[in-house]
Amino acid sequence: MANNAHAALALSIHDQAGPKGGIAFNQGNNTVYYQKVGTYRATRSGKRVYFTDRTIADISARYGQVFQQQRARAEGHSVAVRGDVGYDLGDRDLAPGNIWIVQLLSRVPWIYNEAGGNSAGISGLNAADKQRYANGLVAAVEICVPTHR
Ligand SMILES: [Zn+2]
Repeated sequence: MANNAHAALALSIHDQAGPKGGIAFNQGNNTVYYQKVGTYRATRSGKRVYFTDRTIADISARYGQVFQQQRARAEGHSVAVRGDVGYDLGDRDLAPGNIWIVQLLSRVPWIYNEAGGNSAGISGLNAADKQRYANGLVAAVEICVPTHR
């Protein structure tokens, strides 16, 4: 849908919630991923399908910095920014490679957001932490894709 609409920007919004395997909102997993040329995923036959679009990669990298800055400010903790997953997804029994599949298949800038998903003392995010996460995302969207009135 994003490709067909020639979207100016697309987002993934994830968090890591749950009693087991959940990660606290204020520690780790707070990451912004942008698209980078040279990242890939492998097909079943082992052929590597690379992300090759330099124009989109440049825009995606720029937007990634904006998301990192705005999320860190709104969430009140550090947020990492990466041009690749940081490990081989084959280690998780997924198609091997180092770009999230939605970003590989996208022909528009796609910023993939991860966050810790447990607020203090609970499984899942409380309203205040959801609002912090949302505020950073919205601030970044407004900078990357300003509306003209
Ligand atoms: Zn996720």
